Amino acid sequence: MHTVSLLGSSNSLTVGKILCVGRNYATHVKEMKADLPKAPVLFLKPATALVHSGGVVEIPSISSDMHHEVEMTVLVAKAGKRIPAGEALGHVLGYGVGLDMTLRDVQSEAKKQGLPWTLAKGFDGSAPLSDFVAAGRVPDPARLGVRLLVNGELRQAGWTRDFIFRLAELISYASNFFTLEVGDVLFTGTPEGVGPVKPRDALRAELVDATGTVLTSVAITVEGGPAS
Ligand code: MG
Repeated sequence: MHTVSLLGSSNSLTVGKILCVGRNYATHVKEMKADLPKAPVLFLKPATALVHSGGVVEIPSISSDMHHEVEMTVLVAKAGKRIPAGEALGHVLGYGVGLDMTLRDVQSEAKKQGLPWTLAKGFDGSAPLSDFVAAGRVPDPARLGVRLLVNGELRQAGWTRDFIFRLAELISYASNFFTLEVGDVLFTGTPEGVGPVKPRDALRAELVDATGTVLTSVAITVEGGPAS
């Protein structure tokens, strides 16, 4: 079962689809040498991509360049279609942090050939996910931060206030095309500083409030791949 939990609650929710937003920080768009998006770039991961804290992410044999992308995540509380931006945050049950693990070499080849990103982004283990902080404990989702430590060293840090598309716009836009359901998870895009991981690396992603206090986190280790 692929489930997620709210911190402080014994209930868990079955995860539906994992909707991901690409290119939502200008600094990351620049490092990827991509164009600024006119509308949110969306892609999906299957629920089987989910890994909980303490888990392992295995580098698939087809890749020798798996990258970390730390992102704020959102758990959907209430189903909806064509949700107006003004109502979007009312559909959020909680906020968390996740890693959009990406096979950069496989993705680059797919981009070159005009092929989908499914394999590069949706493989087993590609979505490590924290428990979620109840939305009621987050006064403003535009005042959250994410950071990523690899073997204890800070590799990525960003603030949700720097999103190109704000959270309410992302939810509203995505819901025009994908009916949102209870248990769906949204990845909201990574700040700059993405980079490769190698076998035995220990990754820790954190969601912080405006004062830098850690609200929730997820820790995983990397295994396998051609380099091991
Ligand atoms: Mg990403």
